[in-house]
Amino acid sequence: MPLIPKSHPRAKSLQIREKLVEGFDHGLVAKEGLMAHGRGEAFDYLLGEKTSRAAKNAIKAAAITLLSAKSPVISVNGNIATLCPKEIVQLAKTTNAKIEVNLFYTNKKRKNKIIKILKKYGAVEVLGINPKKARQVSGLYSARRVVDKEGIFQADVVLVPLEDGDRTLALKKNGKKVITFDLNPLSRTSQTADITIVDNVIRGMKELLRVSNNFSKKKMNNKLKFNNKKNLANTILEIKNNLSRRLPNA
Ligand code: ATP
Ligand code: MG
Repeated sequence: MPLIPKSHPRAKSLQIREKLVEGFDHGLVAKEGLMAHGRGEAFDYLLGEKTSRAAKNAIKAAAITLLSAKSPVISVNGNIATLCPKEIVQLAKTTNAKIEVNLFYTNKKRKNKIIKILKKYGAVEVLGINPKKARQVSGLYSARRVVDKEGIFQADVVLVPLEDGDRTLALKKNGKKVITFDLNPLSRTSQTADITIVDNVIRGMKELLRVSNNFSKKKMNNKLKFNNKKNLANTILEIKNNLSRRLPNA
């Protein structure tokens, strides 16, 4: 990894970028995954590279929803497996969720590499690899329509970080409650999901794990008041305020 001076204003962002490049070199991340990350980076810049109040709100709702689900599933792709494998495995344990590998640009070799890294961090079982258990999500044409009959196919709640808009919609139409991480509050995924956490998964997954751990130890009041549209509107306002603060004095 090239040396990134700590004093560099984008040091953290550059370190995350390098992590993804390493993930690509190790065959975990797709070329397109690098570009998707770039789109995310741009929005993170506008958000001030911090977890916003609206994101914290969504994280709380996500933790409650995962903990009270009957059969939650965490969907994993190459970017997520590279950026936060430890948090995925721990979150699955805390919320009693299954883990399924599900790739937009599918490829058996890449799937196996992703499974290997998750197992390295303690995952006991990772679904999405057995062709005999493959089922299709109706209304979808990409490779991601293929899901595991013991995983996403039967889930009531799915956490789909960095999801594609078509699939979010298809999962919703198939009766799933969808939780997503997406730095772009304007994407179709953000607008379609039930709970959108507009935050970098690098920060947001840690926070979701922390909040889920706290809630799992308490008796929860399951009455959840959360309005995703309103929360997204607040995120967009935060971006607008950040931009206004940086208007040059011409
Ligand atoms: P949609 O299909 O939902 O309309 P899109 O086509 O604009 O969205 P995709 O390429 O399908 O975008 O998905 C990538 C999404 O993942 C982008 O919206 C990007 O903001 C987000 N993203 C990338 N890296 C991260 C990250 N580290 N944390 C959170 N979100 C990220
Ligand atoms: Mg898309």
